[in-house]
Amino acid sequence: TYDVHIIGGGLAGSEAAWQLARRGIRVRLSEMRGTGERSPAHQTDALAELVCSNSFRSDDDEKNAVGLLHHEMRQCGSLVMAAAARAQVPAGSALAVDRDVFSAEVEAALAALPSLDVVRERIDQLPVAGLTIVATGPLTAQALAGSIGAATGAESLAFFDAIAPIVYRETIDMDVCWMASRWDKPSKLGGEARDYINCPMDKEQYLAFHAGLMAGEKTAFKEWEANTPYFDGCMPIEVMAERGVETLRFGPMKPVGLDNPRTGRWPYAVVQLRQDNKLGTLWNMVGFQTKLKHAEQVRLFRTIPGLEQAEFARLGGLHRNTFLNSPELLDRQLRLKSAPHVRFAGQITGCEGYVESAAVGLMAGMMTARDIAGREWRAPPRTTALGALLAHITGDAEADSYQPMNVNFGLFPPLPEVKKKQRKEAYTARAKQDLGAWLGEAASA
Ligand code: FAD
Repeated sequence: TYDVHIIGGGLAGSEAAWQLARRGIRVRLSEMRGTGERSPAHQTDALAELVCSNSFRSDDDEKNAVGLLHHEMRQCGSLVMAAAARAQVPAGSALAVDRDVFSAEVEAALAALPSLDVVRERIDQLPVAGLTIVATGPLTAQALAGSIGAATGAESLAFFDAIAPIVYRETIDMDVCWMASRWDKPSKLGGEARDYINCPMDKEQYLAFHAGLMAGEKTAFKEWEANTPYFDGCMPIEVMAERGVETLRFGPMKPVGLDNPRTGRWPYAVVQLRQDNKLGTLWNMVGFQTKLKHAEQVRLFRTIPGLEQAEFARLGGLHRNTFLNSPELLDRQLRLKSAPHVRFAGQITGCEGYVESAAVGLMAGMMTARDIAGREWRAPPRTTALGALLAHITGDAEADSYQPMNVNFGLFPPLPEVKKKQRKEAYTARAKQDLGAWLGEAASA
């Protein structure tokens, strides 16, 4: 018998199991690796396997959002962060680990918890009752994905991401760009017809940009991703460019109906950005999903008028990736609205990255522990990295364009009064203070 069933022993599932079992809660952790089956990316049967890079990215908790997330997770007693510390290898200001030592540390810590059972088994159906955490990751096994799709509606479970780059609003040059909707169509949300930021291009700029897309170095699909479908609405921009020099001008770069107020005319081509979060700090480049290499994206997209100084919260990509439309499907506590005994955690919620996945696992574990204790969960403040990430996943992101997201300062309530140079330190200082207060309250509650 157990109190909580966790499905998936990756980054998120291992962290959630730790958070529960170290509080004495009885947990069954089901992991399919070890039964002879593995996702196409996993190469071992070890828990919390790092499938690609061995880096948890920046460990700078004063100027970097993921470094701040490391700090906050350590404050919450994270197993993933403790194991990473013991497995650390030199990597400058980044936190990198020996992946085998890292997984061994996670396994040893979990094995030492008497209330935890790690069971090597594949789960094919969402449990109909009992507290459950689903943490089966971007490559969730097929039968379970089908069962999740049946519970959520197939259109709410994606099997591929199609990521368009996201730009910090404050780095867009509004002396060049302007806000407008095509044909001045009124906003669905009411108010003026100014939903999009438009970056104008003349013919020469457009042709140069087109040539840049054609020549740019692309990331190859992994072998098992080779049959990635280019379904409607998410064809990579460079694939569209290959179809002809005019294709983009009749597609995502269509200028018709967009009067540039500085010339009174339609530009030759246009790049449109649409608001991506409720705070209005992040804007996505509409239709610009791409497999161009990251450095190439930065170089090429900064040739777009108005984006010369753009900073990117996320760069484009296209991968196999099972994830939910969480802002629509999950409540503020990661529970499926239609079946609240089921929580989701990790990359399947639409966060992106080892650290973020583990962080969401950590919160799912803490929430479930609260449920069992009959105590109310209070979310971490939105000014913290944990709180900002959770708020984004569970409702603050735009559901229509929801795509996987790393933690970044664009998810935090803005600090416009602080000078740009000091803003990162201001975000992290505010977060640390607010996290401290939250942890203090949680301990005393
Ligand atoms: P996972 O770590 O994948 O854990 C899910 C677990 O669930 C797995 O152990 C799996 O075997 C198990 N499982 C699946 N289905 C079932 C089932 N039905 N029953 C029982 N068990 C099941 N992030 C980075 O930060 N850096 C990178 O370099 C990086 N590279 C990536 C490369 C690839 C190819 C992929 C796919 C993702 C990459 N990611 C990377 C993204 C992501 O952070 C990782 O995938 C991360 O491991 C996600 O954590 P998770 O716990 O959500 O899922």
